[in-house]
Amino acid sequence: MKTRIALLGSTGSIGVNALKVISSLNDRFEITALCADSNIKALSGQARSFDPKVLCVRDGWLSGKLKALVHPEISILNGADGLEEIVSRPDVDIVIFAISGSSCIAPLLCAIKNRKRIALANKESLVSAGAIVMPLAKKNNVSIIPIDSEHSAIFQCLGSEKRPFLNKIYLTATGGPLLDIPKKRFDSLSRKFILNHPKWKMGSKISVDSATMMNKGLEVIEARWLFDTEEDRIDVLVHPEAAVHSMIELIDGTVFAQISLPDMRLPIQYAITYPARFCTEVEFLNFSKIKHLSFRKPDLTKFPCLRLAREALKKGGTYPAVLNAADEEAVKSYLGGKIKFSRIPIVIEKVLEHHKRSIKEPSIGDIMEAESWAREETVKLCR
Ligand code: NDP
Ligand code: MG
Repeated sequence: MKTRIALLGSTGSIGVNALKVISSLNDRFEITALCADSNIKALSGQARSFDPKVLCVRDGWLSGKLKALVHPEISILNGADGLEEIVSRPDVDIVIFAISGSSCIAPLLCAIKNRKRIALANKESLVSAGAIVMPLAKKNNVSIIPIDSEHSAIFQCLGSEKRPFLNKIYLTATGGPLLDIPKKRFDSLSRKFILNHPKWKMGSKISVDSATMMNKGLEVIEARWLFDTEEDRIDVLVHPEAAVHSMIELIDGTVFAQISLPDMRLPIQYAITYPARFCTEVEFLNFSKIKHLSFRKPDLTKFPCLRLAREALKKGGTYPAVLNAADEEAVKSYLGGKIKFSRIPIVIEKVLEHHKRSIKEPSIGDIMEAESWAREETVKLCR
């Protein structure tokens, strides 16, 4: 029998790559459900190619329009309830979380409670609610296999046998499009330039996060929860060649790295086929073409978001959720032309400073409340 997949966020950058992987392995996988926010044109096209049983969009009024575009037997759902219904279906074995933003938290918890296998691209859910998500996954004996390339690399290096001997995690970062550009020039650069990552083609939110290096900050928090590792054992190394996707160091000083061309189809495929491996359509690395591999420490003065993320993680409680929500809103304001690029870290730092009522061991309700406060506060500061 084929493994049945629900793909949440199918029209995005990860979603489209996931469909390429599933097409290439179509004797093993089939699509039960596809979900998007509002891009019904792309979603209906995907439905014609992949023949799902159910589709979901965010708003009710869009589901009517979508219905007119697809086969009448396909069920059309909408909103958060629709996502929860999909991840609870008995004909879903694996859920791929490729939605951007923290709206993933509720369906992720629901999928875990329903004991689905999770292939997780969305990092915001772990940043805000890792302290709730990971224990719940453990309790329900659910595997969360990371898709984020660095975390997939660590997951692949670590395996269960090396886990007790882990000393350090090295998260690599390309440094993004601004690595070699002086800070004083940041605001003169076009949005097109900021969104054009030198190594990865990604959605706009994560591309801006890569330029501010908040992406790496979020990934430090993501690694803390995925691998149950203290913050001071997670180092970030700038590695512009993007060949080493991350490394682990064991207690005897031995280092394991995962190396390949930067192509998200590799971690996506591994997350759905784990522990098995299959051939891929991705080109292999040609070592004779690599002139050198370099590693350096990140510049925290130039990229303060990395410092802010570490501070939020150390403070704990609702701080990481506030960081995440403030970042989402600040990036939205930047993309909407409301604030300059250099304002993004300034606004996030202010919101974190204004967050006086952090709750030590927050419930999901507390996290949602802190996020919605942080969103309002950020919007105010971006006016
Ligand atoms: P995109 O912006 O390209 O895609 C987001 C997808 O989520 C789209 O399909 C969008 O639909 C859908 N979506 C957004 N909000 C909702 C919602 N409330 N309900 C249903 N669907 C929704 O993002 P990416 O693919 O770049 O990133 C997705 C996630 O993966 C992010 O969390 C990111 O951090 C993470 N990630 C991405 C990587 C990459 O290479 N792109 C690498 C590592 C992690 P619509 O098209 O209709 O807007
Ligand atoms: Mg990453």
